[in-house]
Amino acid sequence: MMADYLVRAIGAGGNVRAFAAVTTALADEARRRHDTWPVATAALGRALTGTALLAATLKDPDESLTLRVAGDGPLRGILCDSDEQGRVRGYVVEPHVDVEPSSPGKLNVGAAVGSGMLYVTRQLALQGIYTGSCELVSGEIAEDLAYYLTRSEQTPSAVGLGVRVAPDGSVVAAGGYMLQLMPATTDADRDRLEENLGRLGSVSLAVEKGMTPEEILAAVLEGIDYQILERRDLRFACRCSRERALGAIALLDESELNALVDEDRGAELTCHFCNEVYRFSPEEVRRVRQGMQAKQ
Ligand code: ZN
Repeated sequence: MMADYLVRAIGAGGNVRAFAAVTTALADEARRRHDTWPVATAALGRALTGTALLAATLKDPDESLTLRVAGDGPLRGILCDSDEQGRVRGYVVEPHVDVEPSSPGKLNVGAAVGSGMLYVTRQLALQGIYTGSCELVSGEIAEDLAYYLTRSEQTPSAVGLGVRVAPDGSVVAAGGYMLQLMPATTDADRDRLEENLGRLGSVSLAVEKGMTPEEILAAVLEGIDYQILERRDLRFACRCSRERALGAIALLDESELNALVDEDRGAELTCHFCNEVYRFSPEEVRRVRQGMQAKQ
């Protein structure tokens, strides 16, 4: 299997920005970590891919981007984030979800997500934190992101995201593209891009056939002059650690800590983003309490 990465390009004399990614390994890593059922696997894989594509516009190593899909469907929401170094992580609130397929063999991500809002938060080095939002159009994620970029960020955009789930539940192919048009884009280029996207069809099928991000871009931008500016490796990676988890335990209120110590119990903390479980012995919990008391 090819390693996950994305490519970023500029075309049509600077009027078209284009991004394409293969994310099969990271979508499957998310599936394995969170034990998601197929429709949740598809929804999370699409959201992770969309997050990686949006984060491809970040420029500083300290910058990050968060995508939150707050739908009222059985998934009860999706949260993903990514940084400038291609580290992507995320989760669905309810991983064990099953909904009627929209058509035979087609996972109904829209119904699993439901209706609600989409939020994009950029944490930028110089401009600080900026959050934009819009209503979900279909809950299918790609359409929602395109609508968000077009309406909320005033950048006409096309987004394609796809995840193919095998009968055994694993991810066989995942990927996506994002096209952004600047105001000076000609009608001819616009028509050509639309035609290209129609011809490409399903992006997950393209990845399953072995197309690389460069080949997806070549298909999307056929007939348009462009150059690739960057290639960025992508992977599922979380920023949690044992030290940070212990820090979170120190934030429990004193009565909760006292109860743990009195009952001679350890503590257990699960990271939402990657499902890693951190266990602390009664002795470690006692030390946290001693540290707290020393500060008082
Ligand atoms: Zn984590």
